[in-house]
Amino acid sequence: MAEASYEEAIAGLKKLLSEKAEFQETAAAKIRQITAELVAITAGSTHFDPVDRIRTGFTHFKKSKFETDPELYGQLAKGQSPKFLVFACSDSRVCPSHILNFQPGEAFVVRNIANMVPPFDKTKYSGVGAAIEYAVLHLKVENIVVISHSCCGGIKGLMSIPEDGTNSSDFIENWVKICTRAKTKTQSNCKDLSFEEKCTNCEREAVNVSLGNLLSYPFVRESVVNNQLFVRGAHYDFVSGAFELWNLDFKLTPSLAV
Ligand SMILES: [Zn+2]
Repeated sequence: MAEASYEEAIAGLKKLLSEKAEFQETAAAKIRQITAELVAITAGSTHFDPVDRIRTGFTHFKKSKFETDPELYGQLAKGQSPKFLVFACSDSRVCPSHILNFQPGEAFVVRNIANMVPPFDKTKYSGVGAAIEYAVLHLKVENIVVISHSCCGGIKGLMSIPEDGTNSSDFIENWVKICTRAKTKTQSNCKDLSFEEKCTNCEREAVNVSLGNLLSYPFVRESVVNNQLFVRGAHYDFVSGAFELWNLDFKLTPSLAV
């Protein structure tokens, strides 16, 4: 409709100008003015308004999801019983609800730098410990998935820590050192690879360290032994669009084998 009107307007103008050549100069000036106005509107619309973005985002969700599925949201208002506890990186490109199409209520999610699971430590890592404890003991999730991803800045940071171990940040390096064993293994097994390829290898090895660390939580270990809880690793490659999934391999962490 709008396109037809536009075409008609242009055709009308062209017809008039072909018949009345004396109007061409005036028309050219008017067109330049309209062009300048449209450029100004475009420039204005590219200004990012975070509050507006949040409002429109929620309105979209409410109209297209919340109001169209009262049964689901009615159930969720009473409680949650997710089947998954998911560890994913904080990276803005790897939201597990997007890449795995998890719906509200399906996945209890912990996101942090490089999707790491620290070992059981009541004081140092109480935030992550509380999430695992709540998911396993109270929500009784049946699956834990640790999802790494391509081009992970956290893993690159781990691989870049100098040999003498000195830190240049307040938090990041201390955090990613949780998976130092993955770095050590990568460096000894992948000597001939480029730095980027080593990082890719380390992304997967770090998941295996995290899977081993999960077993240092007594309530996780007990549920795994009793076949009430299944632990898996995964890698999402957002360059090629691939997703890889593997089971916990006890042989990778013999000291924690049960
Ligand atoms: Zn990452």
